[in-house]
Amino acid sequence: MARIVMKFGGTSVGDIDRIKNVARRVKAEVEAGNEVAVVVSAMSGETNKLVDFCRQIAPLHDAREYDAVVSTGEQVTIGLLALALQEAGVNARSWMGWQLPIRTDGAHSKARITTIETDTIIERMSQGQVAVVAGFQGLGPDNRVTTLGRGGSDTSAVALAAALKADICDIYTDVDGVYTTDPRIVSRARKLDKITYEEMLESASLGAKVLQVRSVEMAMKHNVRVQVRSSFSDAPGTLICDEDEIVEKELVSGIAYSRDEAKITLVKVADRPGVAASIFGPLTDANVNVDMIVQNVSHGGGATDLTFTVTKTDLERAVQVLTDARETLGYQELVADSNVVKVSVIGVGMRSHAGVAQTMFQALSAKGINIQVISTSEIKVSVLIAEEYTELAIRALHTAYGMDAA
Ligand code: ADP
Ligand code: ASP
Ligand code: MG
Repeated sequence: MARIVMKFGGTSVGDIDRIKNVARRVKAEVEAGNEVAVVVSAMSGETNKLVDFCRQIAPLHDAREYDAVVSTGEQVTIGLLALALQEAGVNARSWMGWQLPIRTDGAHSKARITTIETDTIIERMSQGQVAVVAGFQGLGPDNRVTTLGRGGSDTSAVALAAALKADICDIYTDVDGVYTTDPRIVSRARKLDKITYEEMLESASLGAKVLQVRSVEMAMKHNVRVQVRSSFSDAPGTLICDEDEIVEKELVSGIAYSRDEAKITLVKVADRPGVAASIFGPLTDANVNVDMIVQNVSHGGGATDLTFTVTKTDLERAVQVLTDARETLGYQELVADSNVVKVSVIGVGMRSHAGVAQTMFQALSAKGINIQVISTSEIKVSVLIAEEYTELAIRALHTAYGMDAA
């Protein structure tokens, strides 16, 4: 007997037939003698619709009321799944975040889980009752409902698995595992049997939407075994695990991309100590996260260009802050460009192998794709390129690193 957490995403509960399909899968686990807690997302498209309602009423909405609205999608699916399970003869009960409760900090719309009260559901699970828990939501210190940021049901599931000391957290979705890159872009993407926590964390941070970044952080910290698999087939999924569990390490395990990038260039900034601090200080104060940065060395004249990236959503604010500070910063011109994408290759094998970046640069140049900004870390190389080359670049890199499926 094992204790398992099963999480089903939006497409997996997208209509009544699919909810019945989920109930069948859950029933099979119960009949195999397992103790089961299920976490569900809202039906696909529902959360988008709710977010849009808030925007239509107030573009700069109150985060507490936004949470009150957008958390409702999951209330519908927990109730429907509990009903479907009961209809299938399985003892089941639904739980909203506040009913357990799943406690979070007070950062409405992007809250972090602090604790989960599990005594009641553990007792009921031991008596054979399935706990159907709403993903994406929790209870803040102000006693109001919070949400965990888009894609947050993954984090609800992993946090619940950690709190329940579950043997496995199965993330059921519309693909049958983690692929070398987004299978919607590269049809020859390959499914990975295993991927390290670190690689998954980088991939998720660099744009792979298959798991929310925080869910991977949480899994890594609490050593939760996470498996990504399909809710529509029985194919084995991808296990996210420690590096020492992977025998054959690939040099590059994946390619991620993020369209949520924008580039700002400050033309002719003074090249003297303290300038970078005076530019990035006000951006930090305005809560703008800066990601990639390049600064050229000036060749006489004491001025240089400084280029960096921010998220598309922060672009307007960043431009405003820098325009307001133009007198003090003394740059000649500000050029903003949101027609860019960040493409990254990721792999723990890079630590011990040279030449990974070079393969990337060559593959892109062979396709005539200009690299605008580069950044690297121990296990990834990222480049910023024009957005129209996204698909072309990803496919070329996928081939260059020998990842194409036969
Ligand atoms: P859910 O609604 O189940 O949470 P998501 O849409 O959040 O599902 O995540 C699954 C999607 O992630 C897939 O349909 C796929 O297009 C996308 N995806 C992006 N990168 C990858 C990758 N490397 N491997 C698998 N899926 C990926
Ligand atoms: N329903 C929420 C969203 O769409 C949470 C999730 O699906 O993980 O972001
Ligand atoms: Mg998701």
